[in-house]
Amino acid sequence: MHIGIPAETRAGETRVAATPETVKKYTAKGLHTVLVQTGAGAGASIPDAAYQEAGATIVAEASQLYEQSQIVLKVRGPQADELALMRKDAVLIGLLSPHHAEGIEAMAKHGLTGFAMEKLPRISRAQSMDVLSSQANIGGYKAVIMAANVYQKFFPMLMTAAGTVKAARVLVLGAGVAGLQAIATAKRLGAVIEAFDVRPAVKEQVESLGAKFVEVPLTDEEKANAETAGGYAAEMSEDYKRRQGELIHERAAAADIIISTALIPGRPAPVLIKEDTVKAMKPGSVIVDMAVEAGGNCPLSELNKTVVKHGVHLIGIANLPGLVATDASALYARNLMNFLNLMLDAETGALKVDREDEIIAGSLICANGEIIS
Ligand code: NAD
Repeated sequence: MHIGIPAETRAGETRVAATPETVKKYTAKGLHTVLVQTGAGAGASIPDAAYQEAGATIVAEASQLYEQSQIVLKVRGPQADELALMRKDAVLIGLLSPHHAEGIEAMAKHGLTGFAMEKLPRISRAQSMDVLSSQANIGGYKAVIMAANVYQKFFPMLMTAAGTVKAARVLVLGAGVAGLQAIATAKRLGAVIEAFDVRPAVKEQVESLGAKFVEVPLTDEEKANAETAGGYAAEMSEDYKRRQGELIHERAAAADIIISTALIPGRPAPVLIKEDTVKAMKPGSVIVDMAVEAGGNCPLSELNKTVVKHGVHLIGIANLPGLVATDASALYARNLMNFLNLMLDAETGALKVDREDEIIAGSLICANGEIIS
């Protein structure tokens, strides 16, 4: 098969969907040709020559690449001009924004077989393909590093001849993959950490990383409904939100840094840090709103900006993994290779889309001109 790796065109997207390591594996048996667009790896500091050495063919123009590629590996979904260049029978794999109806419709109309990695079932067999996890992990790390950079005090407690400096207090909202990595990173820097999640199941994980779990007492009914069958957070009742808001307000006022990661798949992010809560925070505090692209956990954060409001620094950078582009690409590329290998015959290299396979069926969003929900 011909596998194409275009340069990403969305503003600020530095990642790339294949690395020399994965190219080498795709081409090892001589079954596949990998085409890499000139400069595709530049944002992740991977030169064309490294791809070439690994066995890729470098092509100058996106049009040449798309014309030949039966399989296209991308980071972000295609923009209209990219889509127009793709073969009608192409298989496209990437972060295709499955909740963005217009984009999916355009891909389906074009005839693509599209796999949105956001829809990959979170089952054990799919762990090595789990793009959301690999990228959220990096995002959680970088969020803490960004906060530390803006924060005008130390993270660790220091006892010096000039007196003692207190440790930073970090509050992590949402203890999924990103939140847990944020806890681990803040811990390594010496902070005192509290974390909060709507899913009581994460309490143990939070505590095992050395953070305190902050709990909103749940009724039996709320306990049973806080988590969906897929392990995601569910939308909570108005009464729960009120109690939660009060507790977050209190803990935020005591915190120096908030790393906020709360998401509900396919819905706007829950508002957890209201303006009153920001006002109650100490001057010089920092909020990293990792949910900013989904509307934000704090209404004051602004997409792709760092702003200061009521004396609090609000960091709203959407693509945090893109700021760690080399490692983010390395993990992303491996995730995609593991996913694609599910469909490639190891002996002949032929591609087979087996819709009986839970992982393949779960990620498929369009095929044969139709949208698959
Ligand atoms: P996510 O990015 O969808 O959300 C981040 C966190 O925010 C979650 O922990 C969620 O519970 C929390 N949250 C949502 N609304 C909230 C609110 N109002 N207040 C506080 N917190 C709120 O989550 P994720 O990191 O993608 O993880 C989702 C699920 O997938 C988890 O159960 C996780 O364990 C599971 N998972 C499974 C695998 C696997 O391979 N088996 C891999 C990764 C994740």
